[in-house]
Amino acid sequence: MSNIIVGIDLGTTNSEIAIVKDNKVIIIEDAGHKILPSFVGIGENNEILVGEPAKNQYVLYPERTVKSIKRRMGEEVKVEMAEQTYTPQEISAIILKRLKGIAEAYLNEPVHKAVITVPAYFSDAQRQATREAGEIAGLEVVRMINEPTAAALSYEAEQKAHKRILVYDLGGGTFDVSVVNIEDNVVEVVASHGNNKLGGDDFDQKIINHIVEHLKEKSGVEVQRKTIARINRAAEIAKRTLSDQPFVTIEEEYIGEHEGTPIHLSLELSRDDYEEMIAEYIDETLEAIHIALNGANLTASDIDEVLLVGGSTRTPLVSQRLKEEFRKQPRIEVDPDLCVAAGAAIQAAMIAGIDITASAVLVDITPYTYGTSALGELNGEMYPYMYVPIIHKNSSLPLSKTDVFYTVMDNQEAVEVRIFQGEDNDALNNIQIGEFMVEGLTQAPQGNPILLSLELDLNGILHISAKEKNTGLEKSIVIDNAISRFEEAEMAEAKERIKEIFGESGEGAVVVEQDTDNHLVQARALIEKGERMLENASSEDREDIVNVIETINDAISNKDFAALKEPMEQLSDILYYLES
Ligand code: AMP
Repeated sequence: MSNIIVGIDLGTTNSEIAIVKDNKVIIIEDAGHKILPSFVGIGENNEILVGEPAKNQYVLYPERTVKSIKRRMGEEVKVEMAEQTYTPQEISAIILKRLKGIAEAYLNEPVHKAVITVPAYFSDAQRQATREAGEIAGLEVVRMINEPTAAALSYEAEQKAHKRILVYDLGGGTFDVSVVNIEDNVVEVVASHGNNKLGGDDFDQKIINHIVEHLKEKSGVEVQRKTIARINRAAEIAKRTLSDQPFVTIEEEYIGEHEGTPIHLSLELSRDDYEEMIAEYIDETLEAIHIALNGANLTASDIDEVLLVGGSTRTPLVSQRLKEEFRKQPRIEVDPDLCVAAGAAIQAAMIAGIDITASAVLVDITPYTYGTSALGELNGEMYPYMYVPIIHKNSSLPLSKTDVFYTVMDNQEAVEVRIFQGEDNDALNNIQIGEFMVEGLTQAPQGNPILLSLELDLNGILHISAKEKNTGLEKSIVIDNAISRFEEAEMAEAKERIKEIFGESGEGAVVVEQDTDNHLVQARALIEKGERMLENASSEDREDIVNVIETINDAISNKDFAALKEPMEQLSDILYYLES
């Protein structure tokens, strides 16, 4: 009998199966897909559907389809599917059997044993139900491990050094945070907290509401039940796009009718606006982190590493807020959708006595951070060469990221783009690897958005392009050997060279006409707000507001950005005082 033990992540939304082969974790694909949606259904000809086909039919025939069965595991209930009833174990068994089949087709041999992951908070009854589901599917569950433990294993198969890890798991419908302790090869979940009704679906819902309101206000269209499924899909796609792009245009043909005229949807959404919509949810996850840390008698500074699990952690705001909280970049080397399955496979290999090293799943990552320089705040001062990372070190390849920058002058005709490799907040302390000009911009007021895209492929080739958003005017370059390592000496030499070109203080350099921190945008918004409040202000306050606005406008027209900070602070203080 075959001795192979597979690792399975049996998830609420998606499931995966993996094995270790030649010291590498392999997530087994089914027709090119590594992820099997955790949907089960009965098709029109009474055939059993699992995964994508079941997910597709859910929209049309919810009564013939079951989703999110994991939420019912351990309950004494039956769910209905095409007029038959099933226990949660039976539905989970159908998913497991499908996964088993996928592995057997790949391995060309039968599979009888599995390690299955479960959430850290699962009760005995829920664990027992999972074991039973395995048995029904013809799998002996040789071990059940907690999902955060599996995530930790996927990052570090050899658990030697003592470490405290925070695993942040934000999926489609659930959020969990766990503190995991690693010592002498023992991986233990010491505290856990979460919300099983918080996840990417809530993010989608915010975008859906936004679209529905837009259609109602702009086109007088009340969304019909039959179009809501299309809007749901469009919202989810838009959300994913905003993880890599600063803007997305949501487009759907024929979304309804108004007085006999067909209405098409075309709505631009910026990442900034989207992040505002979901900020309350991210705040909630941070509160949960503090509860978990309290439970473990720890504070943020005791955490050695933050690991991301679950598709929704691809949302840049998640990493950004975690970085602020823990003062370290969360680790992203292992695909957040696959790391639990990878950890299950590593555990399975250990049980089977297969040697496995730490680097088993860490493949194809960039060892360097790439970014550009822009006007921004550095050590409390406005500085023209603040470093703005775009692709972060240890991201898995290939990847493509776009950020938005703004012109700082009215009718600015060109922008100069410099690309650096490194980590220092001062771009001049990093290595410049490329530069180019985008010329011929349209006549536009300051704040004309320029999209800068960096795309790094598996061969270390970096494609860089800058595009004027409103016209599509584009300039691009390719750097062939972006990942080739610089020797120490070369590195020092390169730094010197850059310093010479720019001068120690950056004086004499061409001003990089970008404003990543949106200081100008903020200044303009503040001025607008100040002007609005003039009406109801006393004559004394009015004079103060007018004077400060003048100082801000002077600083903007003199391009003296260092002088912006103080009057902006003054104006926000006055406005805050007036508002309260
Ligand atoms: P999981 O339950 O871990 O499979 O996560 C599924 C959730 O991750 C869904 O809500 C997806 O929409 C979301 N998701 C997947 N990819 C991305 C992405 N690139 N950006 C933001 N959310 C994503």
